[in-house]
Amino acid sequence: MTTVSNEPTFRESVDLMVDRAICVMGLDEGTSSAIKACNSVLQVQFPVKIRGKIEVFTGWRATHSTHRLPSKGGIRFAPYASQDEVEALASLMTYKCAIVDVPFGGSKGALLIDPSQYERDEMEMITRRFAHELIRKGVLSPSTNVPAPDVGTGQREMAWIADTYKHLHPEDINYIACVTGKPLHHGGIHGRVEATGRGVQYAIREFFRHPEDVKSANMEGSLYGKTCVIQGLGNVGYHASKFLSEEDGVIITAVIERDGALINDEGINIEDLYHHIIEHGSITNFPGATLEENGAAVLEKECDILIPAALESQITLENADRIQAKLIIEAANGPITYGADEILNKKGIIIIPDAYANAGGVTVSYFEWIRNISHIRMGRMQKRHDETHGAHIAAMLEELTGTTVSDSLKKSVAHGADELDLVRSGLDDTMRTAYQQIRETLIENEKITDLRTASYVTSITKIARSYLDIGIY
Ligand code: NAD
Repeated sequence: MTTVSNEPTFRESVDLMVDRAICVMGLDEGTSSAIKACNSVLQVQFPVKIRGKIEVFTGWRATHSTHRLPSKGGIRFAPYASQDEVEALASLMTYKCAIVDVPFGGSKGALLIDPSQYERDEMEMITRRFAHELIRKGVLSPSTNVPAPDVGTGQREMAWIADTYKHLHPEDINYIACVTGKPLHHGGIHGRVEATGRGVQYAIREFFRHPEDVKSANMEGSLYGKTCVIQGLGNVGYHASKFLSEEDGVIITAVIERDGALINDEGINIEDLYHHIIEHGSITNFPGATLEENGAAVLEKECDILIPAALESQITLENADRIQAKLIIEAANGPITYGADEILNKKGIIIIPDAYANAGGVTVSYFEWIRNISHIRMGRMQKRHDETHGAHIAAMLEELTGTTVSDSLKKSVAHGADELDLVRSGLDDTMRTAYQQIRETLIENEKITDLRTASYVTSITKIARSYLDIGIY
């Protein structure tokens, strides 16, 4: 979003980071150009009559890759959206899907709009009209291109998009899979809303399972008691900070939002703050912390873990040198510019990069898409079977040992996994496996010195294999 004049644009920044990986891989120029190129970008302009006046809206859908179909990626509604940004985000989706072995190509969409300026009914009209354009132009369908929520969009918008597609294609039995991140009663999946934040938590947990990695970030011990600064308390930031503080004992010492930052070295209660924001529309006057008006400056606060979870280009050439965190996990897409990344690497700050760190969203979107095309809720067939099986094991234990198995143990043995259990388990496994692959790449190739390059090398190796297997004609 923010483009610092002496820095590359967001898209150029991603390309430069990818080039760094391609360089250590020694990949031939033709294959690397094919991988980096954005396959297509559609720009649409469409009129909508709002409060008696015609307004013309501009939107984009960039399809970075189609080596796997459908192509996948969110739709954002923002007053600063641009084609450059959409292309950068679409390319990140290609790399992201490959890192977490989600068999999709990469795509992204945006609508240039400030949603706060419109009523609910107006937003519905605009969203449906935008979806109509994308569907009619062939860049939205269950088999070719499947959007999801991003900044400024959520379940509500996804339900409108799915319904618009259904009206245009009632013959498509898989119509509900044309978009993910839908409400539960409209084909959504348990655990999708929390997925990206949950994935961030699982990624940090996996990092802390490797003492050498923790040591490389100048820390030691477990996640418990580590201090954390988070920027952005939206969907991703709220869930990540809530889970880390409530389940892992992480102390959230600062929350940065658009209207300033809240600081409390003893820890901020995220659930209380979240409800305060819903009630008052702002972080100001929150009783549990001190307000600092210059929010951006708080990115520089000393802490163990910094989680940018708001926007791109937040750590730039301007402030990179002053960042004091030991570990940065990029919950947002592109929060660190290319130049800043180089500075942070030199300072020895470990960065868990966006293409891996926030892949929880697309992973659970993949689960939702599978649920939609298989037309059955996950766990429906086996839950009761597993429960009966577990109850028999508990009864057998009692019979064989002559003792009584406690109620809590009985309950846990006889618990059949429901959809949320399966989604969390699948996401946890995905985040752990992907981190281990990235780590292996880092250890095996002495030319690689950072997790971002290792992530891109891991990802591009898989994509290149796919391109070369199919052949480029
Ligand atoms: P969101 O709109 O729900 O939340 C963004 C938050 O950032 C809001 O609370 C907003 O007030 C805050 N914010 C805006 N400008 C700010 C500023 N200058 N300083 C501090 N805070 C500011 O969006 P989200 O879905 O949580 O997405 C956040 C980031 O995560 C984006 O980069 C997005 O692309 C990325 N992401 C989201 C998902 C997802 O599933 N939603 C998946 C992958 C990546």
